[in-house]
Amino acid sequence: SRAQVFEKGKSTNVTFADVAGLDEAKEEVQEIVEFLKNPKKYTDLGAKIPKGALLVGPPGTGKTLLAKAVAGEAKVPFFSLSGSDFVEMFVGVGASRVRDLFKQAKEKAPCIIFIDEIDAIGRARGKNVNVGSNDERENTLNQLLTEMDGFGTNSGVILLAATNRADVLDRALLRAGRFDRQIYVDMPDLNERKSIFKVHLRPIKVSEEVDVNFLAKQTPGFSGADIANVCNEAALIGARRNKKLVDKQDFLDAVDRIIGGLEKKNKIIT
Ligand code: ATP
Repeated sequence: SRAQVFEKGKSTNVTFADVAGLDEAKEEVQEIVEFLKNPKKYTDLGAKIPKGALLVGPPGTGKTLLAKAVAGEAKVPFFSLSGSDFVEMFVGVGASRVRDLFKQAKEKAPCIIFIDEIDAIGRARGKNVNVGSNDERENTLNQLLTEMDGFGTNSGVILLAATNRADVLDRALLRAGRFDRQIYVDMPDLNERKSIFKVHLRPIKVSEEVDVNFLAKQTPGFSGADIANVCNEAALIGARRNKKLVDKQDFLDAVDRIIGGLEKKNKIIT
């Protein structure tokens, strides 16, 4: 959800080192990185590379980050848009945006196209949703399907999309030759939370008593995005308290604050 609106083919400087945990998911996208680095090596042998992979998992677990890291590792341009950008769009605009995006991407291949929240456009057709006009959403989805079928495996464009609701997606999107691969991006376990803390503590000046084992134990149920928030919040609290180094108490207070925020969010949902 944090992907900028229609990022136009800039390269990212995100690498796998910025993505903590998610070892299996990283391994699965490694093949895409290799292909983007040297498409000819694959196509010369007649290998068919998947056109698209769907990153599936709960909010804040690093799907967007992983997609950016694929582009960053392969040093190719990254195009992105979010399904939610298509909400309340004028008739015809969604489909033409999709067309423009693919046109630009093909010119800059090899590259990545990333569609965040694909469920906002890719819900099963004919099902009522309160997102935009249904006709317009269907037009957009149909255009996406047309574009996906229109480029060959050796066009060098790889499509990644993210969703936390793979179950609501139109079956047509999941058919062979489209998003026929699903990669799971799960909530982090204790060890993964430790690695995520390590990544997000890098820029922060912390006192010696701050220990990632302790922090990981204090944060069951936290996503990577929550952990990133804890680290930044702790630094803000420490600065407000005129600390030279961010200490354990600052982190504990930050954790409380994030838990407070999460509880509020859950109240709205239920
Ligand atoms: P959403 O479904 O809400 O779009 P997402 O799965 O795409 O979420 P990201 O936008 O990639 O999640 O994550 C938000 C931020 O949380 C990242 O920019 C990063 O700072 C942090 N983060 C999430 N997961 C990880 C991770 N595995 N390692 C390091 N940082 C992470």
